This record gives sequence, C-alpha cells and structure tokens, in this order.
Amino acid sequence: MRSWSIPVGRLFGVDVRIHLTFFLLPMFVFWTDYVAHQNGANGSRDLALVGIILIFVSAHECGHILAARRFGMVAKAVILLPLTGVTLYDESRLEKAHEKPRAPVLLWQREIRLALIGPLVNLALGCLSAAVVSGMGRGGDLWKWPFLQAGNLPKSVVWANLYLAVLNLMPAYPLDGGRILRAYFSRTMDASAATRRAVSISNAIAMVLMIAGLFSDSWLTMVGVIVFSAAQLEERALVFQSVLDNVRLEEVMLTDFATLSPADTLEDALEKAVHSLQDDFPVVRGSDMVGVISKQRILDALRAEGNGYVQAVMNKIFEVSVRQDSLGSAFRKLTARNSSIIPVVEDQRLIGIVTLQNLMHSMALLAESRKLRRDESES
Ligand SMILES: [Zn+2]
Repeated sequence: MRSWSIPVGRLFGVDVRIHLTFFLLPMFVFWTDYVAHQNGANGSRDLALVGIILIFVSAHECGHILAARRFGMVAKAVILLPLTGVTLYDESRLEKAHEKPRAPVLLWQREIRLALIGPLVNLALGCLSAAVVSGMGRGGDLWKWPFLQAGNLPKSVVWANLYLAVLNLMPAYPLDGGRILRAYFSRTMDASAATRRAVSISNAIAMVLMIAGLFSDSWLTMVGVIVFSAAQLEERALVFQSVLDNVRLEEVMLTDFATLSPADTLEDALEKAVHSLQDDFPVVRGSDMVGVISKQRILDALRAEGNGYVQAVMNKIFEVSVRQDSLGSAFRKLTARNSSIIPVVEDQRLIGIVTLQNLMHSMALLAESRKLRRDESES
C-alpha cells in the first residue's frame, strides 16, 4: 500500500503521502487544456490548477484529522489522491479511544460525523471564495461553463471546492459518502462485512463512471479510475487489519523450534543456529524462559569478545504473550521493544514462539486462505 505513495511532508503532525494516481491529474489537466485550445495549452496555468486542487484536497483532509482528534482518534498518515484522501488511523491508540471515548456517541454515528466534516470544509471554502470572487465584480463569470478550467483560476478555486464537496459525497467507498453508507450498514452487520458491501457498491459505481466517461465528459472516467484505486487501497488495508485483529497467536506460532540453554557456549549456540532456519532463539533453563537471543547477536559477540556463554549476552528483558493474544498485539509488542521474537507461554511453560520472520510469512498466507474461504462461502 505504501509503495504506491510517496512522502511529501507533515500536516498537524501527521505524515502526508501522495498516491501515484495523483500524477494522472497534471497529465489530465494538460491534456484537456490542450484539446480545448488548439493553439496549445498553458503549462504554468495548468500546474496552478493542479496546485489548487491539491491545496483543497489537503484542506478537506485537515478537517477529518482535526475532527478525528476531537473523538480521541490519532491519525497516522494521510494519502492524497486527486479527488480525495485516505486517512489511516493509529490502531493501537484507537483502542484506547474505544475504552474511554471523550464524546459519548455510538461508533457509527462518529463515523458519519467524521465523514461529513470533509465535504463541509470544501462547501464552506467554496462559498467563501464565491463571495470573494463576486466581491471582485466577477460573479457573473461563475456560472459559465466550463466551471473548472486553467484559464480562469479564481473561478476554479470556487468550483474545485464545490466539486470536491459533491464528489466526496458519492456513495463510493472510501469517499466520504461511501463511509456514511458503510456506517449505515455497520448498524446491522460486522465491520468487515459492511466494508465489503460498501466496496462492491463502490466498484460498481467506478465501473459505471469509467464507461459513462467514454461517451461523455472524460473527467468522469478519471473520477471512476480514482474511486476504483482508492477502494483497492482500503480493501487491502482492511484485509491486513482484520488478519491482525482476528488471528490468535496459536494459529501462527511456531511450535517446532530450537531453544538454547544459558549454559551453552556461543560457539555451541552458533553450531545449533547453523542447523536451524530460525534467526531468533528462546533461552530456556529447565522449563523456565530466561531470555532471548538472535543469530546476529551471537555472531556479533563472537566477533567482538570471542567465545563466551549465552547467559552473558542474551537479552533478559523480553515480552511474552499467551496463545489467545491477537496477532496485532504481538506486532505492537515486537515493534515497541524493537525485538524480533516473542515467546508464547502457558502456565509459565514455553509452548511456541512468534518471530518477525515467520509473522510476515504467515500473514500473507493467512490473508490468502481467508480470502479463499470467503470466496467459497460467497459463491
Ligand atoms: Zn473526506
């Protein structure tokens, strides 16, 4: 998901990235300008129009970020697309927000308020700029077609905002209208089913727009392409999230693994490591977990200080999980401690390990197998 977007800066402390489809916009604006004026397009005005759209998409997202903050949610990143943005929230902080909501509103009501704020920002800015343009004595111009054109930038400011407000209210997920639709569905079904239904409606709308655009205004095709790519973006994030939340560690932990003893010498440990696929090892004394150590740490210690005991170089501070913990919580523990292994214990006995290495593998596999099961149950 991230590889399709590039970082451009920060807004209110949130990482802002531009999705690659955004670069369709300058090409598209230039092309329509070129077709409209046989004498050639004006490159700098075209760029200015793209800049205007970018600014007001950002303003729209600022509305969402600030509103989310009021609900105690923390935005992690914003991905800007040509007509909309997708705000990703920090899930670990979100859980805390669930525990202690600042405003006593239901989840689906919160979603709807959060979605409405973006189009409202654009509507307000559109009206404001219309008033300014009218004040400059050019109000009559405002209602002449084409509304959005590089040749008349003040008018484009007004209409860019009005278009953004209206387009984002389309019931095509993840546009705001689609989020409202999903919130409505989620009153009677679980979150991932509601999202799937919203995404399929969204894909149908995208298809209709793309085809309609071929026979009328090509902007429609452009909108269709964007809606489609935005929906894929969310769908993938969702599959990932549902795997993180719904998979228990017992489903993915390695139960067949090698352990080391604190009394092992580093050379013995390296010898064992060579014969195992593992990069990380639990260190066990009798039936007690006493530490963790990585292949790399063994190598580094051998190089730096020569042979010694595992006891001396192992990491004695580590997190443990139980088999019912979610994959998401294991992931957070791993990243918080910057470690690469989590022992899974039961009655203080080591029953499995989860490592970063096997997590990546198993997540991809699980996402696939869930999708297969889902397709089967739907057909
Ligand atoms: Zn929005």
